[in-house]
Parts: sequence; structure tokens; C-alpha cells
Amino acid sequence: SSQQVEGDQLPRYVRVNTLKTTVGDVIDYLKREGFSYQGQASRLGDLTNLSGKTFLSDLHLPDLLVFPPKMDFHAHFLYQAGHIILQDKASCLPAYLLNPPEGAHVLDACAAPGNKTSHLAAIMGNKGKLFAFDLDAKRLSTMSTLLLRAGVTCQQLANQDFLKVNPESPEYSQVEYILLDPSCSGSGMVCLQDSRSEPQEEAGRLQALAAFQLRCLNHALRFPRLQRLVYSTCSIHTQENEEVVAACLQQNEGYRLVPLLPEWPERGLEPLTQCLRASTTKTRTHGFFVAMLERHALGEEEKG
Ligand code: SAM
Repeated sequence: SSQQVEGDQLPRYVRVNTLKTTVGDVIDYLKREGFSYQGQASRLGDLTNLSGKTFLSDLHLPDLLVFPPKMDFHAHFLYQAGHIILQDKASCLPAYLLNPPEGAHVLDACAAPGNKTSHLAAIMGNKGKLFAFDLDAKRLSTMSTLLLRAGVTCQQLANQDFLKVNPESPEYSQVEYILLDPSCSGSGMVCLQDSRSEPQEEAGRLQALAAFQLRCLNHALRFPRLQRLVYSTCSIHTQENEEVVAACLQQNEGYRLVPLLPEWPERGLEPLTQCLRASTTKTRTHGFFVAMLERHALGEEEKG
């Protein structure tokens, strides 16, 4: 399909794992292998004109390198050794924007296979606590392997339904940051497009997903010390994105949206323009959505 062609034409993004190496060392390594480094991109068009063994630094995200479409690093030493993570640019936004400081207590609600978890750990310099949950045992075991390879040591993994995690448990009393990347339709993943299902079936599926996403979001806001939460999906459907966030804000006083990256080329749909969207056409990534909620009133227990 034409969607598949589009997916094949997206640049390939590589996130440098700063727990194991530096951007400079990765660039030098690749140059010694015959790659030509062309510096930092200065506009979106730079990302689309790559071919052969050339690469750039991204124009929005630090620690991100950009390669021509179809470049495959799965067999490469740097990937095998956990020095680089193969991750679409859009999916690097949530951890980057949440930006938890070293020493923070952070919760990743739907974490497997863990690319965003390892990104959070890198930002935290492996200092602090990273509680990560996933319902799927198999995906969670893949995740342990991935985190081991990435040198992540601050995590505490649990094969648990996030909706059953008790926000009042003393264990989570210092959690100030939550990343919520729940199951979604995946409609933004241009290679995973599936147009076979009936419209009615699809509508029911979206409705069920949106209800689940809203429950997760509402549950996350119950953690007593929460300061900031990033909500993300790889869906392009308003129903799973702006509508979920708007419903949540309506149901929870004391939270507001944080305006994200003014220089980012694609915004959430009106009126939620503080949020970000991503797409093949406007950002040269898979389709994606990110919102950040911030608490703006301190709870009563604060004075204790
Ligand atoms: N954040 C991950 C990453 O960057 O690698 C991707 C997460 S994926 C979009 C959603 C995950 O949510 C799946 O692994 C799924 O097993 C998990 N999940 C679904 N329902 C859940 C629940 N109730 N509690 C915890 N995890 C759940």
C-alpha cells in the first residue's frame, strides 16, 4: 500500500544511550566505519535528503542521530552492545519532555518493551527510582533483556496491572513523575496499518481503548506526590488523544496542560494546542501524540 511506501521512506532514528557512551564517541565510531557526519540538521528538509552512509544530528532532540530510510543497525556492534537504541524520533519525545531530574522517583505505567524506560533512566543518570509496570509477562521479559543491555540499574520491574497498583502505597509516596504510554490502536505506525477490519468493529475497538486510556490517566493522577505526567500514544485518532486528555482534565481539578516545545512543527488539535502531534508529513516520523499534565495546586497533605 502507499502507507507502506511512506513508512519505508521515513528517516531512521538512532538514540545514543548516554548510560554507556556519548554522542561524540558514537559519531567518531561511525566515521571510522566510513559514515559521513553532516552536522546538525537546521530544518526538517535536511532529514529527508539523506542517502548512502550519511547521517545528521537531529534538529529538535539531543542524543538523536538521523540516518537514511531503511538503514538497519540491528546487527551492528553499537546496537548489540547497548550503546545505541533504535527508536523513532516521536517516541523519544515522552521521556525527553518529562525530563525527571537525577534522584527522582518515576513511574512508567505501561512500560514494555522499555525503550522509554531506558530513555528515562539515561536522563536520570541511573540515579533515583524507576518503577515500571506491564501486564504482559512475555513483553516484560524482553524488557529486562533490553534494560540489561542498556545498562539500566535504577528500575524496579513488576508484572502487574497498572490499574491495580495502589497509589497510596508507601512505596510510591515519593513518585513525582509518571510516564503513561498505554496500549493504543497503533494507527500512527505507518507500517502496521490494517484496513481490513469493519468500520463498526473499528469504532468499538477505539471506544474500548479510549475508555482504558482514560482510566489509566485518572488512576495515574491519584498518586499523591505527582507533579508531572506525560501521556503518549502512537495513534492518530483524536478519540485516543485530545479527547482522552480533555475528559481527564474535566474530571480532575488541579491539573493543567504544559505548553510543549514551541518550535515543534505539529500541535495537538484545537483547543489542546499545548500538546504535540507527529506525522510522516509534518515531522518525518510515525504518527504520535504527547500531552504533559502538571499539578498546579498543592494537596492538603503537603503541610504535614
Ligand atoms: N512504553 C513502551 C515503550 O516505549 O517501549 C511501549 C508501551 S506499549 C504502547 C503499551 C504496553 O501496555 C504494552 O506492553 C501492554 O502489555 C501494556 N499494558 C496494557 N494494559 C496494561 C495494564 N492494565 N497495566 C500495565 N500495562 C498494560
